[in-house]
Amino acid sequence: MRQRIRKGILAFSVLMFPLTFFFLSPYVIVLSATTGVINGSAMVFGFLLLCSILFSRIYCGWICPGGAVQDLISGANKRNWNSKGKNLSKYIIWAVWFSFILFLWIKHRPLKGEFLYLYQMDGQYMMIYAIVMTIIYLFTISTGRRGMCHSLCWMAPFMVIGETISDFLHIPRFRLKPNPDSCVSCKKCTKECPMGLDVSHMVKSGNMDSKECISCLACVDICPKQAIGFGISKKRTH
Ligand code: SF4
Ligand code: SF4
Repeated sequence: MRQRIRKGILAFSVLMFPLTFFFLSPYVIVLSATTGVINGSAMVFGFLLLCSILFSRIYCGWICPGGAVQDLISGANKRNWNSKGKNLSKYIIWAVWFSFILFLWIKHRPLKGEFLYLYQMDGQYMMIYAIVMTIIYLFTISTGRRGMCHSLCWMAPFMVIGETISDFLHIPRFRLKPNPDSCVSCKKCTKECPMGLDVSHMVKSGNMDSKECISCLACVDICPKQAIGFGISKKRTH
């Protein structure tokens, strides 16, 4: 039932994507920064970072339209994206992009916030939307499940930073909780994980913290032995 609700939310998010696309755009942040404006997408990214301090990457697993589109496409390519260094590239892209924005913000200060700055659903907007959808489609088809989340996503690093802040400050946040004694190593969880994580091994190791986990709870719901729980807690220190 829970996974049906999650998929329903994600399907709704895909339907709304033509409207919300602007607020998830890294490109419009750069355009706005060239005139000293912090626009809606910059505010949304900042909000997601703050949310992840408590809620980890729930946004990625339950709401993100880009992730949802990948889940839909993964019917055509069910492989896991196993390239070496697959997770590193998104941090490099993010670091270059965000450094440029910081440079523009410093150069064009004082800054002003304007949520709807440059929001205009015209032909150019729809063309950029179509290009991004094509990139998501081609990347997922050629890599595998949630390939973009692993390698290209410009939003994931914000949430990983939020999780890192949370753990550094010992703030309780959303986590999976393993019960290794109940696990019978059937590996159903590993097969189900949309991020291709070795969930079974994580359960057995007693540590389910992973920067790539999107808190979708698919592993929790597929486990026949209830060996995976979840809740809000601090990082384990031993
Ligand atoms: S599905 Fe449950 S029992 Fe099976 S390997 Fe995963 S945690 Fe263990
Ligand atoms: S480990 Fe579980 S909650 Fe995390 S992404 Fe994989 S299936 Fe989802």
